[in-house]
Amino acid sequence: LEDRLRKSDTLNVVGELAAGIAHEIRNPMTALKGFIQLLEGSVKDDFSMYFNVIKSELNRIESIITEFLVLAKPQAIHFEQNSIVKIMKDTMELLNAQAIFSNVQMELITEGEIPSIYCEPNQIKQVFINILKNAIEVMPGGGKVLAVLKMNGPDQLCISIRDEGNGIPEDKLKRLGEPFYTTKDRGTGLGLMVSYKIIEEHRGKVKVESQVGKGTTFCITLPAGNNEV
Ligand code: ADP
Ligand code: MG
Repeated sequence: LEDRLRKSDTLNVVGELAAGIAHEIRNPMTALKGFIQLLEGSVKDDFSMYFNVIKSELNRIESIITEFLVLAKPQAIHFEQNSIVKIMKDTMELLNAQAIFSNVQMELITEGEIPSIYCEPNQIKQVFINILKNAIEVMPGGGKVLAVLKMNGPDQLCISIRDEGNGIPEDKLKRLGEPFYTTKDRGTGLGLMVSYKIIEEHRGKVKVESQVGKGTTFCITLPAGNNEV
């Protein structure tokens, strides 16, 4: 428990720092993007490759900042009873274009009645985005992502998200959620850290099961019922 408390303390400090830095970086970034666009229109085509690199690197900075901001003390945090089924459907719709592009098919199955859950919908959506995105990214040649929602008794909602990607070796499993841990060329290594923090704040848990070469399943449990978080 002490370990967990310390970890969550650290996350709060990181969150406040992140908010400050993120806002400071956003403003100059906007200026940079604007002027680069102007420049691009007024120089020779030979430089288009440079501009592509500049723009892609700026986008990368932006995605790091965006993920960091989620960590930050949320401005408009609003816990209320929400349908997790709807949030999952919305998220899948949001990612549908990316999935189709990667030839990935997303499916949602609900088993039995799923009651609404006391949660912060935008944050839960962020968690689903992060995990579904990872699932899509881990299947560059296409495949299937299956999300299953079901109750585990009356007090616990169980959300599992399974992919058919290359899996995670046993010794790497414990590194998931570590800030900046990524195995991707263009990864930030922040998505899971943010997701774990959000689930922790909802008094939920995340478990990962993986088989190398076969796929990975993220199992999220959230407390159900009307108890405040
Ligand atoms: P990023 O996606 O930017 O790398 P994340 O925090 O989302 O950062 O994920 C961290 C790492 O965890 C990934 O780089 C990958 O190695 C591993 N990972 C996450 N989800 C999966 C998955 N579904 N299958 C295999 N590996 C995964
Ligand atoms: Mg990710």
